[in-house]
Amino acid sequence: MPESQGGNAPKALRIDVRTPFGRLQGNLAVPPGGMRLSELAWNAMAFDERLIGMAVKSEADAGRHVSCRAGCGACCRQAVPLSPAEAWMIADVVAAMPPDRHAEVLARFAAARDRLHTAGFADRSLTSADDEQMSVLGLDYFRLGIACPFLEAESCSIHPNRPSACREYLVSSPAELCSDPASSAIVPIPTAASLTDALSRLCAMVMGGEPQAIPMTLALEWAAANREAGQTRYDAGQLMGTLFDLLGPEPE
Ligand code: SF4
Repeated sequence: MPESQGGNAPKALRIDVRTPFGRLQGNLAVPPGGMRLSELAWNAMAFDERLIGMAVKSEADAGRHVSCRAGCGACCRQAVPLSPAEAWMIADVVAAMPPDRHAEVLARFAAARDRLHTAGFADRSLTSADDEQMSVLGLDYFRLGIACPFLEAESCSIHPNRPSACREYLVSSPAELCSDPASSAIVPIPTAASLTDALSRLCAMVMGGEPQAIPMTLALEWAAANREAGQTRYDAGQLMGTLFDLLGPEPE
């Protein structure tokens, strides 16, 4: 369980997360004042990298090495799921772009959204889907061949700001197998924990409703429709503490 240390700001949060690959412990600085959910997502990415590093090391110790490389964007045509916090984070990333680039990226999002709406895909909820339905949805989405609006020359143009699903999706099988996501020969690197899932559950706790998964291509549309909720500020220490609780295993 995380515990807050210290009195007045700045505070430190003691982190102790149990994962299948061991415990991740340390201290995190808690920014003073309130925090938006998009800021929480951004602050959690460095921690996600440490979790991913534990899984990658464990696989490497067993002789399985990550085969993902820049220039291989096959997975960037999948229905990349975002938590609400990450949908707002991506909207912030796009809003901060220089005008020309901003317009270019907005046009790509609009084109992708139009194709999804034309295909009737935007009406198919990712929120209430079970694992089997998600698998069908994922394959149907991939067959549409819609590239992520940030994919340029088969590489990620927002690599330092990419969401957790992109960070956590790694494989040790040959990259060419990823052109068929239904292939049983694809060997994913197991995840130590899913930050997307933990953030989605946290958002549902503070906003109400069910945990949501928003496809990357609809992120800007979703963020605009929920702009007001995205501006709400919460106690940073409580948000971060609850998130790290959710990243650990379910209590038995
Ligand atoms: S954000 Fe980057 S890594 Fe993620 S799907 Fe888009 S282009 Fe690929």
